[in-house]
Amino acid sequence: MAAKVVSEILQTSLGPRGMDKLLIDAFGDVTITGDGATILKEMEIQHPAAKLLVEIAKAQDAEVGDGTTTVVVLAGKMLESAESLLDEGIHPSIIIDGYKKAMDYALEAAKGVAIPIDITKKEELVKVVANSLSSKVVAEARDYLAQKAVEAALIAADKVNGGYNLDLDWIKVEKKKGKSLYETQLIQGIVLDKEVVHPDMPKMVTNAKIALLDTPLEIEKPEWTTKISVSSPQQIKGYLEEETSILKSYVDKLKSIGVNVVIAQKGIDDTAQHFLAKAGIMAVRRVKRSDIEKLAKATGAKIVTSIKDIKPEDLGTAGLVEERKVGEEKMVFVEQCPNPKAVTILVRGAADRIVDETERSLQDALHVARDLFREAKIVPGGGAFEMEISRRIREYGRKLPGKEQLAVLKFAEAVEQIPVILALTAGLDPVDAIAELRKRHDAGEIDAGVDVLSGKIARMGQMNVYDPLIVKEQVIKSAVEASIMVLRIDDIIAASQSKV
Ligand code: ADP
Repeated sequence: MAAKVVSEILQTSLGPRGMDKLLIDAFGDVTITGDGATILKEMEIQHPAAKLLVEIAKAQDAEVGDGTTTVVVLAGKMLESAESLLDEGIHPSIIIDGYKKAMDYALEAAKGVAIPIDITKKEELVKVVANSLSSKVVAEARDYLAQKAVEAALIAADKVNGGYNLDLDWIKVEKKKGKSLYETQLIQGIVLDKEVVHPDMPKMVTNAKIALLDTPLEIEKPEWTTKISVSSPQQIKGYLEEETSILKSYVDKLKSIGVNVVIAQKGIDDTAQHFLAKAGIMAVRRVKRSDIEKLAKATGAKIVTSIKDIKPEDLGTAGLVEERKVGEEKMVFVEQCPNPKAVTILVRGAADRIVDETERSLQDALHVARDLFREAKIVPGGGAFEMEISRRIREYGRKLPGKEQLAVLKFAEAVEQIPVILALTAGLDPVDAIAELRKRHDAGEIDAGVDVLSGKIARMGQMNVYDPLIVKEQVIKSAVEASIMVLRIDDIIAASQSKV
């Protein structure tokens, strides 16, 4: 029951006509999204079975980055089907066996439905990637954004035996409110949402020699309370001078090995800033760890934890490091890096909520590109794939004996609920829609699905609505795994509340 409730909440968010949810967290911050994984992340879920669905959505997100809503909805429908079988007195172990058989068959059938694509053709990639953006706030600019995502993916990917291998860590998505989605740009290099720390520092450095510091350029306060007894003003002066000279020695050391850009994960205090500026070194502080790591890869720098031990070979290089104004604020661009795979997509949009949702959607789009690099096969979307799989499972199920047949047929029914829900979001009568879909699939129209935008049954191939095969395969595997896990439980045993 708990798992079903979660799945029902997500149902209305499925597909391009799915509704968004407005989520309010404990601090009153508002997020508006239709992305299944994000909705689940923000919901405060207590029940362990419902939490399981959250886990599969997370796993789906980590594995293939798309299909998160679908997987939760499908798992809910499978549990609903299982419930009606349990009501008929069928033992869970028979249902589990039936589901496993149906899953194996479905995965086989999926391969039969899939169509290969030529990933060396950029337009083909853009078409499928754009489709993954259609159900989002960003739908109007989807072709433009898909283009950017594919370009970024192609820059960052390694070419291996005629295909590509993409490590998404190379691609940074940075956002800055202002202008429109169409101003979203691709930058070859890394963009940091930070300013140069001191006004007297250079704002542009060519042939940069970069030190990446994981240590503060400041005198740290000790973690425990310390008392220093001084007996004369001289001693205070000496103490402060010592602090200054330590910082100066750090800057001297950096200068001596030719550093002209310092990028620090931690703080740089006023005194150190002053010395750096005097030495003509550009510095940026409090940069996120993930950005420091990306910079290390892009520039060839080693992340240094002790300035005393820094060596010339620890430094990274870049053709250009420059602070530029983006909208009202400043950002630091590290460009012409020795490793050309580093790329940043700088998202622009009129409001915070738009840039936030665009960032999430672009992550999905990048995952879809990576999925296609992994396996260059697609299946028709809009519920056409599910309709066809369901039809084939049903045919297979009819040949099975007894109770197992019932479980397999119920499985097929659950899979068929995806087009039913898409039809509902499109304002279609679900019974009519399914009847027509069944008729057309029986007649061999594999790609007949729900055109949710115009509210008709149509051929998805003609409309270019496709999803990557591995997303759909993962959806089936994860949904079955989750429902089997719930079916195996026959009792919940909770530890007694500790008495205070
Ligand atoms: P998920 O988080 O599971 O990816 P989405 O909300 O993105 O969920 O919805 C994906 C579903 O919407 C897929 O089944 C996909 O085929 C379908 N879909 C996407 N674009 C269209 C379209 N233009 N017409 C019909 N269905 C579409």
